[in-house]
Amino acid sequence: MLLTCDGIVVGRREIGENSCFIDILTDELGVVEATAHGANKINSNLLSSAALFSYSEFCLNKNKLRYTVNSAKPKFSFHELSRDIEKLALASYFAQAVKFCTPSEQNQRENKEGSLVRFLAVSLYETLHAGEKRTLTAVKSAFELRYSAMLGFAPNLVACHNCGRYDCENGMLFLSRKSKLVCADCFNPDFEGERVMLFPETLNAMRNIVFSPLDRCFKFAVSADAEKQLSAITEDYFLYRTERSFTSLKYFNDLIKGIDKSE
Ligand SMILES: [Zn+2]
Repeated sequence: MLLTCDGIVVGRREIGENSCFIDILTDELGVVEATAHGANKINSNLLSSAALFSYSEFCLNKNKLRYTVNSAKPKFSFHELSRDIEKLALASYFAQAVKFCTPSEQNQRENKEGSLVRFLAVSLYETLHAGEKRTLTAVKSAFELRYSAMLGFAPNLVACHNCGRYDCENGMLFLSRKSKLVCADCFNPDFEGERVMLFPETLNAMRNIVFSPLDRCFKFAVSADAEKQLSAITEDYFLYRTERSFTSLKYFNDLIKGIDKSE
């Protein structure tokens, strides 16, 4: 049976000298593992499509439970990511996270939050172009919070959970384990759970990430302090909801810390 679908390669394992298994993220089938025969040969028409992060239209052949790549038409290449070690580390984190959170052989189209393939493509595109308008850390935050929302863990960022105010001159707190906001006037000082007093900029950025259309959720500007706060919040939130850690994230954070120290 032949199937055609758009997908992004989120994992790859070599088999012998010339072939490989690739994990392809698709909206129709979730993540599927497919064999790409001869993909490493210099004249193979799968050479670029079987590369990590390649975004292509794949024609897959399904035989019993196995998929093989019949042909592929590249749509966009994120190959340039491999020229920058920090960008590559962040892209690897996104791929690892999506691969972990997406069930295989399950249609993702019913997700009302939109196309997962498009979301990953936008995330990789923003990673590739980071540095011009926003940092990699801001891109990471947008990915973590928006993806949490797509997975069904959207925090309530509309207003204070208690009084319904959108803003408060004494500040707004984010209660991450409860996924909600509470204003400083309503906050119970005896509350012992996780809480962060948000910079107004941080709250604006969080609202932008969750409520904007997909192509604008990465587009926000924050000061260095707010960016640091935002990053700590979104990373903690995503890891807590997905209940795991990612080696690629640790690697990315070590790289970024190393850069901070050398400056
Ligand atoms: Zn309130």
